[in-house]
Amino acid sequence: MALAVLQDLRKTYRMGDEDVRALDGVDLSFAPGELAAILGPSGSGKSTLMHILGFMDTPTSGRITFEGADVSSLPPERRAWYRSHRVGFVFQSFNLLPRLTVVENVALPLLYREDAGGEAAREARAREALDRVGMGHRLGHRPTELSGGERQRVAIARAIVGRPALVLADEPTGNLDSRNVERVLDLLAELNREGVAVLLVTHDLAVADRAPRVIRMRDGRVQEDVRR
Ligand code: ADP
Repeated sequence: MALAVLQDLRKTYRMGDEDVRALDGVDLSFAPGELAAILGPSGSGKSTLMHILGFMDTPTSGRITFEGADVSSLPPERRAWYRSHRVGFVFQSFNLLPRLTVVENVALPLLYREDAGGEAAREARAREALDRVGMGHRLGHRPTELSGGERQRVAIARAIVGRPALVLADEPTGNLDSRNVERVLDLLAELNREGVAVLLVTHDLAVADRAPRVIRMRDGRVQEDVRR
């Protein structure tokens, strides 16, 4: 069974008198445990695609099947369920909450889960996720006390703490120096080997080069979809 199937997916924004077609008929299918890079110029629809796949937004039309279920037009509370149980996000700018400690940041997504137990259980899972990304020694630090690479590793821990089927990473290496780019990519590849599907938006051809599948977007469409 496919992880996600997108059929004739469209997203149109009304801007004044004009329709902006952020997605203009996208057909794509993702397998469980797959690793794909998404390339394309700014404005080509990459973020819109990630937001829809991550249950943060809904398409204007088209069909989405996720783990066999039609999720094309779910009510907000069902979308929230998928968001907190099945997907994890990693952003270019980390999006960690500055007032919370590292372990609190990572435990945060579990607050929205009915099955994550009490505070101690949530923290234990957060510690486990932080150990996995090599950040188990920084539990009590605040994000501002960490380097960019460390912050992104914490953000990856937050993305995987809920054991998602899919991690959506939007330019995750965009703010990192080359050493940390490698480290973050290695980490995402390792997660992927353990069975998590990873979709990675990037501008960096060297980053895309590491992915077994490269999807190129242009003007809201899939221009090229190559598996190696
Ligand atoms: P990318 O991530 O490839 O840069 P986006 O998905 O962010 O592209 O945007 C695709 C197109 O949709 C762009 O023309 C952008 O201006 C437009 N767009 C995206 N989000 C909105 C929005 N909330 N309102 C209006 N237009 C939007």
